[in-house]
Amino acid sequence: MATSTDPPLIGVLALQGSVAEHVEILESRGARTRQIRVASEVAGVDGLVLPGGESTAIAIMTEGDGIFAALRAAVDGGLPAYGTCAGLILLADDAVATKKGAPQALVGGLDCTVCRNYFGSQVSSFETELRGEGAFSAVFIRAPAILRCGAGVEALATVSAAPCAAARDAVDAFDAKAASGAKRPRDGGAGSRDVVVAARQGNVLVTAFHPELTEDARWHDKFLAMVEAHRGGGGAAPPAAKAPPSDAPSPADVEAMTVGKLKIALARAGCEDASGKKADLKARLLAALA
Ligand code: GLN
Repeated sequence: MATSTDPPLIGVLALQGSVAEHVEILESRGARTRQIRVASEVAGVDGLVLPGGESTAIAIMTEGDGIFAALRAAVDGGLPAYGTCAGLILLADDAVATKKGAPQALVGGLDCTVCRNYFGSQVSSFETELRGEGAFSAVFIRAPAILRCGAGVEALATVSAAPCAAARDAVDAFDAKAASGAKRPRDGGAGSRDVVVAARQGNVLVTAFHPELTEDARWHDKFLAMVEAHRGGGGAAPPAAKAPPSDAPSPADVEAMTVGKLKIALARAGCEDASGKKADLKARLLAALA
């Protein structure tokens, strides 16, 4: 039986999305991981990670198989959970701009209203410098944004941005509904508003961006600290976080990249074509960096 001095065992929902990247970063911080594909695999983990991907597809894939119910029971029971991007959407209590005709099932846990695809489609992916607990680089890919935080939710990072055209109707409808009472976010001009992109409520942590696609482990360390606190603080502290690299990747870095990392590096290098096999992505990135 695992004791609290064993490395924590983190369950990573592994139906779709950037699973390998989360596993890699969690294991580099000393955690053990278990990829979760069926409901019975939720039992016994010390924390849960819900990666990015496509929340609609994840919800459809899990329809009726009990996995969302198992995740919900774990989160409701106080098990620490960290959701990135689509994982944020799934951990929200309420979502707008959901796909028409396909009801969006949610795990819930964070008292907020999230807007899917707030920042736009794949080509509107971007990386920006944000400030939360220190400065960090945030990678957004078809990212959601939190429009409303409940009283118990701590906003950890915000961005001032207008909703993309496809999300505007849903945001307007949300505003119209909220107009009778709820506080409207500060208007930053030209339709932009302050939206929350990282938040925590109790043992639920979410980011709209993808720290697992960077070398910056501080968000995962924050989550692992929540896991340790929940286990009673008996585990070893994770190793000190590496400073995020500031330089472009070297050819050796490119060689070692996963497909997910290649795609984001291509986006950062200004190349919008992120299709094709791994070898094509590598060749295109090396050409873009040359
Ligand atoms: N737009 C996706 C969704 O709605 C999230 C994108 C992501 O996880 N990178 O689920």
